Amino acid sequence: MQTTTKQESQYARSLIEASLDPLITISTKGKIMDMNQATLNITGIIREQLTGTDFFDYFTEPEKARDVYKEVFAKGFVIDYPLTLRHKEGKLTEVLFNGSIYKGDKGNVLGVVIVARDVTEKNRIAAELLEAKVFAELATEIAEEARNKAESSTLIAEAAVKSKQQFLSNMSHEIRTPMNAIIGFTKVVLKTDLNDKQKEYLNAIKTSGDALIVLINDILDLAKVDAGKMTFAHVPFKLASSISAMLHLFETKIQEKNLTLVKIFDETIPEVLAGDPVRLHQIILNLVGNAVKFTSEGKITINIRMVKNDAEYVSIEFAISDTGIGIPENKLEHIFDDFQQATSETSRLYGGTGLGLAIVKQLVEAQGGTITVKSKLREGSTFSFVMNFLKTNARTNVETDITIESQNPINNIRILVVEDIALNQLLMRTLLEEFGFNMDIACNGKIAIEKLKANDYDIVLMDLQMPEMNGFETTEYIRNKMNSIIPIIALTADVTTVDVEKCRAVGMNDYISKPIDDKLLYSKLIKHLNHKDSEKKINLQQKNALQQAKCIDLKQLTQRTKSNPALMSEMIVLYQEQTPPLISTMKRSFFEKDWDSLSSAVHKIIPSFSIMGINEAYEHLAKKIQDFSNKRIQTEELGGMIVQLENICQQACNELEEELNTFKRNT
Ligand code: ADP
Repeated sequence: MQTTTKQESQYARSLIEASLDPLITISTKGKIMDMNQATLNITGIIREQLTGTDFFDYFTEPEKARDVYKEVFAKGFVIDYPLTLRHKEGKLTEVLFNGSIYKGDKGNVLGVVIVARDVTEKNRIAAELLEAKVFAELATEIAEEARNKAESSTLIAEAAVKSKQQFLSNMSHEIRTPMNAIIGFTKVVLKTDLNDKQKEYLNAIKTSGDALIVLINDILDLAKVDAGKMTFAHVPFKLASSISAMLHLFETKIQEKNLTLVKIFDETIPEVLAGDPVRLHQIILNLVGNAVKFTSEGKITINIRMVKNDAEYVSIEFAISDTGIGIPENKLEHIFDDFQQATSETSRLYGGTGLGLAIVKQLVEAQGGTITVKSKLREGSTFSFVMNFLKTNARTNVETDITIESQNPINNIRILVVEDIALNQLLMRTLLEEFGFNMDIACNGKIAIEKLKANDYDIVLMDLQMPEMNGFETTEYIRNKMNSIIPIIALTADVTTVDVEKCRAVGMNDYISKPIDDKLLYSKLIKHLNHKDSEKKINLQQKNALQQAKCIDLKQLTQRTKSNPALMSEMIVLYQEQTPPLISTMKRSFFEKDWDSLSSAVHKIIPSFSIMGINEAYEHLAKKIQDFSNKRIQTEELGGMIVQLENICQQACNELEEELNTFKRNT
């Protein structure tokens, strides 16, 4: 028995010693009676020194420890009271104080047994977690705030870009309108008999005017790229001939300066490529223009070679080299920045604003290309850019060939000019009469419509901003109410993309920006008159028949339905139900560039032309639209063709409605 008790006691002792938490027994007087190894470790005091000392002294807050101890006696126990034990060398251990009284055989209280659970590590982790949580909450708050700020700054930035765009657009309009008259009349007067001094002064006016327009265009271009509004066409064009035509523009200047122009063209480049020829011209014009400007002797070389020939696209490098003044090495890296010129002398000696290369770089990069420059002072410079162009089997669009010489003049042409500003009216009269055209003027849209109803014109030149009825409203009326397909060319002083798209959307065929370039005006007039001419042929000679006579002819339908009015009515109703949604789909698909949907809508509409006896020219037109959409070619023409189709279908629906009413009256 004795042995068992001894064993039990040893067993209990080893358990007590094994505990990592301090275990202490205290007398009713508060003196330490016994403790385990963990207590020694945490206080740093040996067993003999601890025994019999005041238990409270080892806590950082002895008074609090005393109170807790008293509470144990009062209540019989205390659970998880947080206190801190101090090591003799200062290290602190956070503990949860758990105590309960223990009694003797007679039930008398002998003392208190205490377990002080070490929670330092747990508290540390909890504190860290709390800190992390607070930090995370703070971070979320900051992120939220930053997002709100970013959102509001995006809104502010977007608004700023919009108002900048609006401001530039307004300024461009305000400056271009008077410049149109200044440059236009200067050109007109330059053609009259003048003495040398007068010629010199007028040439100076013209040069300054031209420079101002270049500057306005440059600033507008930069603003457009900034605002992400620069759009690029993907039309088929002939690279070699388009570049040759453009280089002709430099011939006079190059001859005057006694320079040589060398053109090296890689013959393996496919003849027709798809891309944006207008922007490509703009890039090359700028680079060749600089090469000519900064070279006084030697040659300008344009080297065009294919650097990659993929299944779908080709990469082409255009290198423009000169033997001119060169650019100092320390200026090379900034030469593509806005308003940068190589030296402070450049502007005085050569003019310019330092915007050209910035625009060139933006134009190249916005189309996925790269541009580099190599230059040596007094030896010359080479600007090279590489751009990808899609391969295509499509035909080229005549629009890119803008040389006057290739056009056949057309006689007896009557042009209606819709323009409210007297100076511009006079300028247009001078230009058009010089081309040999007859012209008539309408001061606003309303008068234009009256004149179009009363007279026969071949083409309309339409200003956009006018009192009473503006150019957009007038065109909509001409297309939708008068159902006329007369070519309409917008004259715009505001060349932001928004306006151009709006012109197409209302059914204009083309646009020319002011100040009007007389060569461009002539070539555009000829182009649309030629179009109209060929349409005339398809339209079985009678142009007016299309506009004034009925567009439907129910002969076919009568035959098909064997003159059964009920069946005829049914087919007409079907046509009236199906056609407008198909037209809406076509228009939507065109604007969204959803070519498959456009092609399928046109495909569905094509058979209805012959069934309703609509002039076969429109069936051809529909097939042409289908062809364009199958080849995924978005040109200015396509929008106009869809509008023409919409007009004729609308007219057919109206006429069919009348036919239906007649059937009803007769049955
Ligand atoms: P601008 O010609 O209107 O000053 P650019 O942006 O086209 O503006 O050119 C910026 C500057 O780069 C020019 O002012 C000129 O100092 C330098 N530069 C451009 N092209 C050439 C070149 N071919 N030869 C020498 N310097 C050039």
